[in-house]
Amino acid sequence: MGAMDRPVLVLNANYAPLHVCTTRRALVLVLAEKATIILNGRGMIRTPSTAFPLPSIIRLGQMVSRPQPRVRLSKQELFRRDNHSCQYCGRQDAVLTIDHVIPRRLGGGHTWSNLVTACAACNRKKGGRSAPEAGMPLLRTPSEPPATANYLYRRYLPVNQDWVPFIDGW
Ligand SMILES: [Zn+2]
Repeated sequence: MGAMDRPVLVLNANYAPLHVCTTRRALVLVLAEKATIILNGRGMIRTPSTAFPLPSIIRLGQMVSRPQPRVRLSKQELFRRDNHSCQYCGRQDAVLTIDHVIPRRLGGGHTWSNLVTACAACNRKKGGRSAPEAGMPLLRTPSEPPATANYLYRRYLPVNQDWVPFIDGW
């Protein structure tokens, strides 16, 4: 990944984490005086005539309003919510699939509360039945994960540890 493509955390004017953009985009916002650099942890980028700091966090000068973020329902996010473990037997070392707790043909929806991670063996055993019919209780009641900043940005944190104090608590 080039230096200009590295992710930068964008904070709202009130310091709430807003989204992630590229370093290129962050510099454009800073040079246009729409944002200021909060953390400059990545050195400088030099051109023949000048040098710019490479931010890792910027903050918008004006408050941006937007709807409460939600976690998008996807296979990857379901695995993540369920901690990559089968929600029937708890196994983590198996081939994982997505199971409809109530099968679609019985009216079960494609929703956070009706989809769980299941190992291939449990999925086969359960077959076309609902979880209660199959006598297979769930380890946890599935629901939509809260879109906290920690949840939304967790995948960036291992390589962007300097973001942690700005994400905690949102
Ligand atoms: Zn299982």
